Amino acid sequence: MSRVDVVCPDLGDFKDIPIIDVLVKVGDSIEIDTPLVTLETDKATMDVPSSAAGTIVELLVGKGSRVSKGTSLVRLESAAAATPPAPAPVQTPAQPQPAAAPAKPAAAAVPAPAPAPAPAPAAKPAAPAPAVDEPAATRTAQLLVLGAGPGGYTAAFRAADLGLKVTLVERWSTLGGVCLNVGCIPSKALLHAARVIEEAHEMSTRGIVFGAPQVDLVKLREWRSSVVRKLTGGLAALAKQRKVEVVRGEAKFLSPHVIEVTAGGKSETIRFEQCIIAAGSESVRLPFLPQDPRIIDSTGALELPDNPGEFLVIGGGIIGLEMACVFDALGARVSVVELTPQLMPGCDPDLVRPLEKRIKSRYAEILLNTRVVAVTAAAEGVQVTMEAQGGARSAKRYDHVLVAVGRSPNGGRIAADRAGVQVDKSGFIATDKQMRTNVPHIFAVGDIVGQPMLAHKATHEAKVAAEVTAGQKSYFDARVIPSVAYTDPEIAWAGLTETAAKAQNIEYEKSSFPWMASGRSLSIARDEGFTKLLFDPKTHRVLGGGIVGTSAGELISEVALAIETGADAADIGLTVHPHPTLSETVAMAAEAFEGTLTDLYLPKKR
Ligand SMILES: Cc1cc2nc3c(=O)[nH]c(=O)nc-3n(C[C@H](O)[C@H](O)[C@H](O)COP(=O)(O)OP(=O)(O)OC[C@H]3O[C@@H](n4cnc5c(N)ncnc54)[C@H](O)[C@@H]3O)c2cc1C
Repeated sequence: MSRVDVVCPDLGDFKDIPIIDVLVKVGDSIEIDTPLVTLETDKATMDVPSSAAGTIVELLVGKGSRVSKGTSLVRLESAAAATPPAPAPVQTPAQPQPAAAPAKPAAAAVPAPAPAPAPAPAAKPAAPAPAVDEPAATRTAQLLVLGAGPGGYTAAFRAADLGLKVTLVERWSTLGGVCLNVGCIPSKALLHAARVIEEAHEMSTRGIVFGAPQVDLVKLREWRSSVVRKLTGGLAALAKQRKVEVVRGEAKFLSPHVIEVTAGGKSETIRFEQCIIAAGSESVRLPFLPQDPRIIDSTGALELPDNPGEFLVIGGGIIGLEMACVFDALGARVSVVELTPQLMPGCDPDLVRPLEKRIKSRYAEILLNTRVVAVTAAAEGVQVTMEAQGGARSAKRYDHVLVAVGRSPNGGRIAADRAGVQVDKSGFIATDKQMRTNVPHIFAVGDIVGQPMLAHKATHEAKVAAEVTAGQKSYFDARVIPSVAYTDPEIAWAGLTETAAKAQNIEYEKSSFPWMASGRSLSIARDEGFTKLLFDPKTHRVLGGGIVGTSAGELISEVALAIETGADAADIGLTVHPHPTLSETVAMAAEAFEGTLTDLYLPKKR
């Protein structure tokens, strides 16, 4: 046994850098490369890994200590002789060179007590070296991105733009993940088609009569696919322009630095310096469902089955209600069954009400507080048994059943444990604000890291992860992530909801503007919407907002921007909004709060 001190490596131009986190404690058994402390300069944060293995017998620094090249960090009891300092793979924070820059300097180990000479400054930052006993690999990647959805392709492209050599691994034949192939984009194309059918029908009472729509499902499917093709083809071109190497196949970790990719029965291995996991999520399948082509998930629904007929949607969340909207417009008799007392759980009930009112008058049934307990597939239809609150059971026959009961993350399907990445029971991978997992050179973004499972969250997280792998000091600290249901009417919200405020005893004041007083809303023949804003009673800053009505999804960005920038009611109300627009309703909700609104008569508040 010998004792060694692990010292801080050369940090380029930097001296006296504060330690913001100590990642180990006395008694820990550590390996070479185990991160010891996190340093923070004004340009970057970086973990300092150990250059020796052993048991920590003393911490020689603490949170807040300042370190420079050669500062002893920890004292180890080591069975082996101290490892000589490795050539320093140091990120030089003063000049963030994205070209090859993990923000991870190697620490040097020296016999105690005298500090060893510090490693020579690296001319160019390099990635942490893989351990010698890693499996052999047929290719190498500076940054490997696992999964090419919004999280994966955004991370890959951003990292490539920052100079990293990126390999993007995807099991599907096209890039774009769920969002482009079987999620956001095809569903919105079909929702547009549904909207056109509805608007044409509504105009019949206003003097313009079209004939009944003749739906050519083959052409509609082809149009939906052409939209998807344009976007996924565009991504392939963008990958090529950026020299991102795309490897097709199912990826699984073999070790912390090697991944195996299997396609068509053949496997290859890729050694990577850093990795971003963006393997996304997939539809939850209820365990008691039989295999039957009439029982579909959202992907099956987007294929638009012929003769949808009696169409049951299990799950009254956003995805289920969006698809219900499509099938309703296409002529199906839609029913929705939802386990909780409210459609779109999590959204404020007042925002859901206009949607509920509209679909109640159109759909066959909306069953709340009701659980599906059994499903059997028979020749004449799919028999579904439901249990209402209180235990009463009923059974009904449907032509198609769409199961939209949520999505589960793919964390359990990539052998993450072989890389040492922790995955929770649900399949989520926890990260810090830099999107770093518990393994310092492996990051994760998108659906796989948690709720809300939304494409715009994935892309923002992806940029942070890519920037951190390139040595930048980026954090994901968005104040709000807006949610949108592209139903008819649309529902959108951002920031604090009234439901959350009440549950958490957060003080707020609310003001809202009803769209029946909006000239623009009336002129598009819709008056059921409203815009509400929640304010901090003391500062008048916007805390949250919700909008229901046409294009609510477009309008909510102003609320999100207001919250991110700390805008208050006067900032919004005094911003001149164009007239007549639906966006005016945001300003008018702010004016209602300020007491300056003239488009409605409201008792003076302040
Ligand atoms: C019907 C529907 C509508 C939606 N509408 C919206 C919307 O309007 N707005 C919105 O923000 N969000 C929407 N979403 C959610 C959105 O699609 C997801 O939040 C988003 O796609 C998540 O991006 P991601 O990159 O994390 O994962 P994904 O898009 O799931 O991509 C993960 C990728 O990783 C690949 N992959 C997984 N495992 C492996 C492996 N082992 N090897 C190789 N490749 C692998 C997958 O094939 C996939 O391409 C919708 C989802 C659905 C299903």
